[in-house]
Amino acid sequence: TRQIVLAQRPDGWPIDADFRLETADLPDLGPGEVLVRNTVMSVDPYMRGRMNDVKSYIPPFQIDAPLDGGAVGEVIASTSAEHPLGSHVLHGLGWREHAVVPARGATVIDTTLAPESAYLGVLGMPGLTAYAGLVAAAEFQPGDAVFVSGAAGAVGSLVGQIARLKGASRVVGSAGSPAKVHHLRDLGFDAAFDYHDGVAAELKAAAPDGIDVYFDNVGGDHLEAALSRLNLNGRVAMCGAIAQYNETEPSAAPRNLALVIGKNLTLRGFIVAKYASLRPQFLAEVGPWLAAGEIRYDETFRDGLDSAPQAFIDLLGGANTGKMLVRL
Ligand code: NDP
Repeated sequence: TRQIVLAQRPDGWPIDADFRLETADLPDLGPGEVLVRNTVMSVDPYMRGRMNDVKSYIPPFQIDAPLDGGAVGEVIASTSAEHPLGSHVLHGLGWREHAVVPARGATVIDTTLAPESAYLGVLGMPGLTAYAGLVAAAEFQPGDAVFVSGAAGAVGSLVGQIARLKGASRVVGSAGSPAKVHHLRDLGFDAAFDYHDGVAAELKAAAPDGIDVYFDNVGGDHLEAALSRLNLNGRVAMCGAIAQYNETEPSAAPRNLALVIGKNLTLRGFIVAKYASLRPQFLAEVGPWLAAGEIRYDETFRDGLDSAPQAFIDLLGGANTGKMLVRL
């Protein structure tokens, strides 16, 4: 099979030379294993962190070893009764065309409910991140005014739509281009702005009565601006800090961090795995909205395993609207 390995650790922004396409032999199937022909793989911002040699909540990728990550595909050989030939599964061995996956690591998905790619986005990890981050980490209440950054991405676009459906008084999003801003208004955001126009002033204009919840996908100046706009007892779900992932020097904390005290703010970081128990509640609530067309989702596809490294680099640069995916 063909697979992408990490050739060297990126220094700052990843480049083509950090990745290498290889062919590898597939092992024979042992008991309780499935051979999957991958059809769609995910590229995600968290993968950038795994390319650094640092201890984190998930071990780093190893040089000369294949990368991994979320993928869906069709079972083409199986020694597991729960995974018949022809079934479609979600698993964690992306960045390769075929994968031998232990049965416990492969979840059969229902492709009559939604296209299989949805299990890597709106119905998958990013969807749960949006839902749990809003409901649990930020303790969203109806009537809250919500601001979300990275709002045209996989997580952010769902945060805004879920907040609106759950009774937010105002939903504001920021994104990196006029086209994305336009799209956010289409998705039902009350206000949206391009952060290149200046986050602090734009946020103030977009949320004249302040915000109660900030869902942070970006960090840096977005977090600083949000702290200034948060109302008393406001809450921040600290989901990501993508503005910092390619920085080679640590960035300064928000200069106004002490506002957290006087405003009684709560800043809560989270990793989606912490909220795995909310998955049934997430599917029960978001599934029907999706089926009814009340939640919309976008996907940006690239084609072929060879395009995966560039798809990942372009994701970090904002080429995607909604979930960035690679068709294999
Ligand atoms: P997205 O689909 O949102 O893609 C990333 C987006 O980030 C790009 O499209 C780009 O959009 C934006 N971006 C890149 N650089 C900057 C910058 N300097 N300033 C502002 N925006 C920038 O990815 P996901 O939805 O998968 O992830 C969104 C965030 O959520 C990430 O920070 C990720 O790490 C985090 N996350 C956290 C999880 C958790 O468990 N805590 C789980 C999943 C995701 P634009 O054109 O608008 O710049």
